[in-house]
Amino acid sequence: MSIYENTLKRLEEIKDLIIEKGESENKVDEVFQILKIPQRIIKVNLPLRKDNGKLEIYEGYRVQHNNFLGPYKGGIRYLLQVDEDEIKTLALLMTLKCALVNLPLGGAKGGIKVDPKALSENELEKLSREYVRKIYDFIGPDKDIPAPDINTNSKIMDWMVDEYLKIKGEKKEVFKAAFTGKSLENDGIEGREEATGKGGEIILEALIKKLGLKKPLTVAIQGFGNVGYNVAKFLYKRGYKIIAITDSKAGIYSKNGLNPEMMIIWKKEKGSFDDYKISKSNSEYKIKNEEIFNLEVDVLIPAAIENVITGNNANNIKSKIILEMANNPLTEEAEKILDSRGILIVPDILANVGGVIVSYFEMLQNIEGKRWSKEKVFKELTNILENTFQEVWQISKKFNTNFRKASLFLAVKRIYKRYLELGSY
Ligand code: NAD
Repeated sequence: MSIYENTLKRLEEIKDLIIEKGESENKVDEVFQILKIPQRIIKVNLPLRKDNGKLEIYEGYRVQHNNFLGPYKGGIRYLLQVDEDEIKTLALLMTLKCALVNLPLGGAKGGIKVDPKALSENELEKLSREYVRKIYDFIGPDKDIPAPDINTNSKIMDWMVDEYLKIKGEKKEVFKAAFTGKSLENDGIEGREEATGKGGEIILEALIKKLGLKKPLTVAIQGFGNVGYNVAKFLYKRGYKIIAITDSKAGIYSKNGLNPEMMIIWKKEKGSFDDYKISKSNSEYKIKNEEIFNLEVDVLIPAAIENVITGNNANNIKSKIILEMANNPLTEEAEKILDSRGILIVPDILANVGGVIVSYFEMLQNIEGKRWSKEKVFKELTNILENTFQEVWQISKKFNTNFRKASLFLAVKRIYKRYLELGSY
């Protein structure tokens, strides 16, 4: 089953719930028919003159899934695995995420099939600018607003917004709202880089409070990029014990706990944990990436890529809670196994929605020409997420269902309502 079909199947599972709760079967059917297909799929070919003089052509995508609630919104990733199926799936998740937290935004996603580590900085900039030239007609503050995702960052967003403004012939701050995740010097917002990790912390704190769990809780994290590092940093500050971290090459374990601030220094300097020097005094040892799923921990956090927890390793998992900071880290088969074993899964559309919320604040900041402090950003983020968590919790209790279904229910219900307001086609 493709990752898109996998996601549609999960969505399909809540259709009956919406009908059961008194909505018109015909209209619900129509909304599901619409949500199953993206509104627009843009495929672009991106020629790049390499530093060695050779020309190479890269494949890029922008999928605009649904804009019933507002302009499309979603990140851009640079990854060799990028294909239409993956980007379609992530665009659908963005539609659901924005609806879940009641943002006036729809869902989109973009990507370039490339290994950015194989490009020089000059090549990376040229490719990023070419991508903007190819999708320019379809983006803008009132159309579609891209942001960073895997292997993209504020520097890349700055190049992209610069290219966008060049073509537009306008330099005004309001048009900078065409991209979010920009650097602070370029009208980005305080806290955007940390926002997804911060959101994970807020949701996990709300959950453990409800469950009455006592700290220190142990945590293992797969992936130590923007999301993995930031969630580790915030949880560490809150008294959780981070006992294992992995990246794409290797992982480190310590029963005494790892300090994310020390780990990030190594990661930034060396690029990976491959040749990490273990500290014997901290009882550290190296683990293979896959071993992260066998550890005795309270909270397991996949924060890297899709489909890492499958039917093959779901039975090895020993945590009480899985906090899905990555998008789609579990296959459907894995989810069934984990559900039956009573492991609580906090779904991606709830756990990692902090990033798009702060992206929305960045848009507002650019449009209103105002600057938000980090305190204000995190306060507003906390309000939205704590309220959303309460809603999800109540729905899950009321319908005796898991958090994924409760979150999907809330998201689709909002899109459904909007569909009725918009009138049929
Ligand atoms: P990133 O590029 O900053 O970091 C990715 C990390 O994952 C790196 O540490 C990399 O080494 C590691 N990794 C890659 N392949 C791996 C593998 N097979 N096993 C273990 N580790 C692996 O990306 P990010 O922005 O941190 O995104 C991580 C996940 O979070 C993605 O699923 C992304 O879609 C999701 N997400 C990101 C944001 C955001 O604001 N950046 C928002 C919502 C969701």
